[in-house]
Amino acid sequence: MSETLLEAEKHASTDALTGLQNRRSLLKNGRHFLNKHRRRKEHLTALFLDIDYFKAINDTYGHPFGDEVLRRFADVIRSSIRPSDFCSRYGGEEFLVLLGQADAAAGEEISKRIMEKLCHLRFEENKCFSFTTSIGVFSAIPTEEDTLEDFIERSDHALYCAKHKGRNRICFYSPDCSTET
Ligand code: GH3
Ligand code: MG
Ligand code: MG
Repeated sequence: MSETLLEAEKHASTDALTGLQNRRSLLKNGRHFLNKHRRRKEHLTALFLDIDYFKAINDTYGHPFGDEVLRRFADVIRSSIRPSDFCSRYGGEEFLVLLGQADAAAGEEISKRIMEKLCHLRFEENKCFSFTTSIGVFSAIPTEEDTLEDFIERSDHALYCAKHKGRNRICFYSPDCSTET
C-alpha cells in the first residue's frame, strides 16, 4: 500500500477527538482479534464503558469541556490496558475495549483500575469536577459460533444492567442481569 493510501486508511479508522480506533475499525479489526483468541483457545474479555450522566456534563459545563472529558477518559483507558489490547470509541461517550488473554478476573481488575484513575482525575478548568463510568463485562474463550457482535452485545447488556442498578459500577454479563461486583 502506498503511503497516501496508508494515511487514508489510518484516517478512516481513527476517531479524531480521542485518537482511538473508531467503530468501523472495531468491526473490522476486532474480528481478527477474536479469531486469534479462538484459534489459541484463549480468553477474550470485552469491556463496554459509558460515562455516567454525560449529557448533564455538557449541559452544565459546555460542549468543549465535554470534549475534554472524552479525551481524558480515552487517556485513562489507554493507560490502563496493554498496547496489544484493542480500544475503540464506539460512539458518543461509549467505548469498547477488547482485552486479549484476559479472563473475567482480569476484566474486573482493569475495570477497577480505570474507575480508580477516574477518581483522581483533575481538570484545570473546573477544579471540583469529577465524573464516573459504568462498565459492562463479558468474558469467554470464543467458541466456533461466537462472533464479535456477540461479545459486543453481551458486554452492552451487562452495561445496561450497571446503568439500571444505579451507575458507577461494574456488571458481568448474565442473561438475567444479576451478577455485579
Ligand atoms: P447515562 O448515565 O444513562 O449514560 O446518561 P448520559 O447522559 O451519559 O447519556 P445520554 O445518551 O443521555 O447522553 C449522551 C450525550 O453525549 C448526548 C450527546 O449530546 C453527547 N455527545 C455525543 N457525542 C459527543 C461529543 O463528541 N462531544 C460532546 N461534548 N458530547 C457528545
Ligand atoms: Mg451512552
Ligand atoms: Mg452515558
